[in-house]
Amino acid sequence: MRILIDLDNVLVDFQSGIDACSDDIKADRAARKRRGLTEDWDEVEGIFALMQPMPGAIEAYQELTKRHDVFIVSTAPWENPSAWSDKLIWVKTHLDKFADKRLILTHHKYLIAGDILIDDRRKRGAGAFKGYHIHFGTDACPDWETALQLVYDVM
Ligand SMILES: [Mg+2]
Repeated sequence: MRILIDLDNVLVDFQSGIDACSDDIKADRAARKRRGLTEDWDEVEGIFALMQPMPGAIEAYQELTKRHDVFIVSTAPWENPSAWSDKLIWVKTHLDKFADKRLILTHHKYLIAGDILIDDRRKRGAGAFKGYHIHFGTDACPDWETALQLVYDVM
């Protein structure tokens, strides 16, 4: 099977990037919020380089790549060019040596053909994906142990 896996809040722990930001950046984001603006953490330069893997994500990725055709499908923010390179560096740092050739950055995930998409959101085309969507981070799939079981159930 071809399995597509999202990065943020699926393989990547987005909150760990926020936690690792400097106090100056945290103060700047808090000031935005006080002004009624969104915090837009994904637009902080370099934040994606600070993020750690989700619990069990690396082991699950390795397990899936043994038996399946796995691609990483993620959206990078248009107002933060560092996110594009940081996502590539993250994949090269945390996943196997073949993973970077399997990284697809797109705002239109439904264009990518696959049997299963593991994604925490329905946005960026995930909701229109033609295969089976495992909705990561929900009650139905709260963690990677459950996600692997759901993949086996589909097989
Ligand atoms: Mg995500």
